[in-house]
Amino acid sequence: MPFRTIAGHSRLLSLLARAIARDSMPPAVLMAGPAGVGKRLTAVAVAQAINCLHPTASNAFERDACGECASCRRIARGTHPDVVTVEPGESGSIKIEQLRDVIDRSQFRPFEGRRRVVIIDEADAAGADAQSALLKTLEEPPSASVFILVSSIPDALLPTVLSRCPRLRFGPLTPGEVARVLMRDHGYSEHDARAAAADADGSVGRALQSQSDDLTEAREDAERILQATARDTDPVKRINVARNLTEGKRTPAEERNRLAVRLRSLGSLLRDVGIIASRADRAMLANADLEGRLETLSSSFDAERSQRAYAAVDRALAALDRNASPKLVADWLLLEL
Ligand SMILES: [Zn+2]
Repeated sequence: MPFRTIAGHSRLLSLLARAIARDSMPPAVLMAGPAGVGKRLTAVAVAQAINCLHPTASNAFERDACGECASCRRIARGTHPDVVTVEPGESGSIKIEQLRDVIDRSQFRPFEGRRRVVIIDEADAAGADAQSALLKTLEEPPSASVFILVSSIPDALLPTVLSRCPRLRFGPLTPGEVARVLMRDHGYSEHDARAAAADADGSVGRALQSQSDDLTEAREDAERILQATARDTDPVKRINVARNLTEGKRTPAEERNRLAVRLRSLGSLLRDVGIIASRADRAMLANADLEGRLETLSSSFDAERSQRAYAAVDRALAALDRNASPKLVADWLLLEL
């Protein structure tokens, strides 16, 4: 991802581009700032700008990567031999062995690039022993290597490490910048992107996270609907379930959106229940993690009922699209399931 495609941070990015163009990039830097604002993307952009085979130049960026040559593409994929990223493993921490390995490799000349770039993402996840192992390298960095430490909690780094890495401070993005990234890179509609960006504190990462929290909650609600309607045919109880779906203080647009997300989730569960009920290939399950509970539901929702219910969800979504009242749609659907 070349500098010109990164959202925000224009002054900082043009400083980096100039340093790379003039071969004055420091051997070690710390990219510090809130999570989800583009620090790691910038580290990758630095690696590309340094090692690109057909670098470009513009008023904004004295040197930038083309983004398309073999070198840029391999760096983006993480397969360039001279660009190494170290990040926390499953344990959540960066182990001393991981750092020793890249330190050893950084002593040699780059295989094919101009300079070797070592990106240490979430550098604060390295324990004191691991950071100490890095310290000597930061004191006398190999000339053909650049170390980029990335951290959203830089205060967790050893003072000795901090003192050897000039700090590049990344601030939050503006809501407009967050929204543009959500639309361009994550397929958001303009409306959804603006809504998510308004509540994201300038962090693309946070906007994406809160969406996935929403989806998790939506799927739980959808599962509750299926459980509540599986055997119980009492219309009053069903209307109560529908009320739970739409109650709460929200704007009409939020309410419509919230119900639509739940209905899509309900459709996905019903499709899976239908797969189980009709003994089709379970590899096709979209919610495989819920397989056991969906299996239980399939004793109430046989193939025919789940198909009928799926069609009802489809009609409910179409009605929402035509601006029908979310409350009426929820009531109608709950009686149809
Ligand atoms: Zn390139």
